[in-house]
Order: sequence, then C-alpha cells, then structure tokens
Amino acid sequence: MPIATTNPATGQVLRTFDPLTAAELDDRLARAAAAFGSYRRTSYEQRAGWMRAAADLLDAEAQATAELMTLEMGKTLKAAKAEIGKCAAGCRYYAEHAASMLANEPVDAAAVKASHAYVRWQPLGPVLAVMPWNFPLWQAMRFAAPALMAGNVGLLKHASNVPQTALYLEDLFVRAGFPADVFQTLLIGSDLVESVLRDDRVAAATLTGSTPAGRSVAAIAGDALKHTVLELGGSDPFVVMPSADLERAAQVAAVARCQNNGQSCIAAKRFIVHEQVAEEFEELFAGELGALVVGDPTDAATDVGPLATKQGRDDVEELVADAVSKGATVVLGGSRPESPGWFYPPTLLTGITRQMRMYAEEVFGPVAQLHRVADLDEAIALANDTEFGLGSNAWTNDPAEQERFATELQAGMVFVNGMTASYPELPFGGIGTSGYGRELGQLGIREFCSAKTVWVG
Ligand code: NAP
Repeated sequence: MPIATTNPATGQVLRTFDPLTAAELDDRLARAAAAFGSYRRTSYEQRAGWMRAAADLLDAEAQATAELMTLEMGKTLKAAKAEIGKCAAGCRYYAEHAASMLANEPVDAAAVKASHAYVRWQPLGPVLAVMPWNFPLWQAMRFAAPALMAGNVGLLKHASNVPQTALYLEDLFVRAGFPADVFQTLLIGSDLVESVLRDDRVAAATLTGSTPAGRSVAAIAGDALKHTVLELGGSDPFVVMPSADLERAAQVAAVARCQNNGQSCIAAKRFIVHEQVAEEFEELFAGELGALVVGDPTDAATDVGPLATKQGRDDVEELVADAVSKGATVVLGGSRPESPGWFYPPTLLTGITRQMRMYAEEVFGPVAQLHRVADLDEAIALANDTEFGLGSNAWTNDPAEQERFATELQAGMVFVNGMTASYPELPFGGIGTSGYGRELGQLGIREFCSAKTVWVG
C-alpha cells in the first residue's frame, strides 16, 4: 500500500510520502538502540513528567489533531476528539501508576534460603509497534504510554494510510521533552517489517491488526525468538436475553456496531437474541440503526462517516452480497450510495447461516447480523462458534445467567449490560485467532518488561 493521505470522504489523494531508504532505516534503528542505553536509566519521575507534558499537548492541540485524523481515515470529528481525550487520560494514568505497577516484588526469602529475594521488572529495549489506522492515535498510545513509562524505546510502523498522524505522534513525544529517539515513527511499508523484526537491535514487537498480519509477525518473531503481543480481529457476540432492558440494549447495540463507522475490532458484530424477545429487539435495533446519520465526518450531526479505504468498502460489500445471494434477508441498508467517497450505510441482516462467509468472517463495517436462539445454551454455543475470541457482550438481569456468560463465553473480555470498551485500568486482549498477550492495566505494562529474579544470600 502506498504511504499516503487519502481523504475517504472524497477519495482524493492529498499527500504521498516516500518510505525510508534502507540506510535511513538502519540509522533509525541505531538511534533507537543508542537511546535505550541512556533512557532505561531515567527515573519514573522524569518519565512521568514527560508523559504528563504529552497529555497536556494532546489536550491543547485536540482540534487540529482531530481534523487530521478525520481527514486521513474518516472517523467523525467528534469521535476523533473523544479518542484524543482518551489518549491524554491514558498518558496520565501510566504517569501516575507505572512506578507502583513495576515496583520490586519481595518474595519469602526464608523459603528460598536467601537473606533477601525479589522480582525486578526491567524494560526489554526498542519495541516495534505495527499499528492499524482505525484508532490511529489510541492504538499507538496504548502501546506507547506503558512501554515508555517502563523504560522501553518505541519504533512505530503505523498503517500506510495515516502517515501524518504517525508523524504527529513522534513530534508529540519530542515536544513533550522525551529524550531524542525514544519514540520514532518509521515510514515504511509492511514489506520491511520482517527486516526490522529480525534486527538484533529490536527486542520485541506488538501488532494490532488483521489475523493474517498477526500470523506473519508471529512466525517471524517465533523464528527470531522475540516476544510479541498480538491484538487481532474479532467478531464479537452481543447476546440479548428476555430479562434485559431491551430499549437500552438496542441503543447500545447500534453504537456498538457502528462506532468508528463500524471499524472497531471490539465492535459487536453478531447479535444473538432469545426468541422470546427477538421480534421486539429487532424492531428497536432497526429503529436505532436507521436513525443514525451517515455523511460528512466533519459535520457535528454525523454519526457514521465513510469507511477508511476503498478496499475496506469492497470487502464489506462482498460479504453482504455473498450472504444475500445465499438467502439472507436485508432488514435495513444493504447497498451503498452513489456519492463520492467510501460510504456504506448501517445494515441489518437476518437469516444468516453457516454457509455464508460472514457467519465466520469479520465484517469491518456497519453491518449487523441478527440470529435467533431458543435458550441460554444455544446462545452460548452460537456465541462461541467462532475462531475469534476478543470481546463479548451479554444483556441479562438474571445473576445466574450473568455468571454463566462470564464463565462460558470464550473471549478475552466479557461485558455484561454494557458495551465492550478499552480502559487503562483493565487488561485488553483476546484468545484464539484474536491474538495473545494483553495491553493496558498492570498486565499491559509488564508485557514489555522482563521479570528478573534477584536472590541475595
Ligand atoms: P492490517 O492490514 O493487518 O494492518 C494493520 C497493520 O499491519 C498496518 O500497519 C499494516 O501496514 C501492517 N501489516 C499488514 N500486513 C502485514 C504483514 N503481513 N506483516 C507485517 N505488517 C503488516 O489490518 P487492517 O485491515 O488495516 O485493520 C483492521 C484489522 O485490525 C481488523 O481485523 C481489526 O479487527 C483489527 N484490529 C484489532 C484490534 C485489537 O485490539 N484486537 C484493534 C484494531 C484493529 P500497511 O498499512 O502498510 O499495510
């Protein structure tokens, strides 16, 4: 994919960038290694000061940055502003908590015949972060804030369609006061990821993106014996049981499917509804989806902007066409407008069967599939009939059912009576082909640290 800013609302290419040459890339890696040599010795207080300064800059520059994000990948301006606020909060959270999260952990010295023994958390080194365009600031920041607070150095290979947002991030950390080269943006295509990953100066990698990209990075990192965190695709279930507040569930369902123009890994994608309430829920849900305003992402009234790329819209159209050709019913939407830009309307399909591609594949756009089930067992079985396992949602006011969902949904996250979301306080990640490892929370900051055992006789 060329490295370029293309406005998804018009399809116009606005700016292109040359990828780094081999010599430039080598120089960047050398600088990262050199920066780690001294940055690892900085104190948590120093890092926290720089991280808080980055948060302040994010807040101060929110309007211009949000406009850039909207221009490059089409999210609504209001969503872009919310994302920036979340990034600032994430920076402040790790500035405040990193030291206690990574404090030495004493162990029972007598039991290990020591006078003194503990576990010490130490940074790994330069970490390569391969990131997607859908939350172009937050995806990168939820790696960078904990990783830098832990004393690592960041190398960002961002998605090729958000180069200006990627460059903004490097500039942000420099202006916040972080030492030179502690966070660098590498303008490279995915073809150069392998050479960076294999380079001895790079200690570890994290990738957020599609399952095929994750597989490729995992295979290379496995061969090179480097630690990885993978946050990949998902097809999250959203189960609605008879005791649920149906109106609330339908409102949240529409947001959960269509937020970020339907392009979120943790978007609810498969709606699984108990037959007792299926008709009522379908009507409410269709009403909520139909009320969403599709259009210019810079307009404050818009709920759903364009998809980020032409390829992304083609993929969504193909999945819908496949389902319809095999008998699915279109309750709402289902065909794109003829206007310029890569718009696709909120769409609701019923009658989905195993023969249809979208039963198993992730739909990365505002298309909901609604299934009816006879009971709790069938709901759980259908929810788990997927190779993914990222987030999941269950709507029920029955405590016994809540417990069953929490125990039996095969996913990295279960949200009951609410929408799956990421918070700095909570570990985020999946199982199965949704990836492994965790971002955020204490587990997240420890991913790029080694747990060093210290034993003193
Ligand atoms: P993608 O094609 O996998 O791209 C993501 C990143 O990986 C980009 O920087 C891309 O670079 C790079 N990349 C692509 N193929 C690669 C390869 N073979 N080796 C190394 N790097 C490679 O993903 P996408 O289609 O743009 O994004 C949507 C996917 O990301 C969805 O499946 C979504 O669910 C997932 N996602 C997951 C999470 C999560 O937290 N679990 C969050 C957001 C998105 P180029 O742009 O240069 O190709």
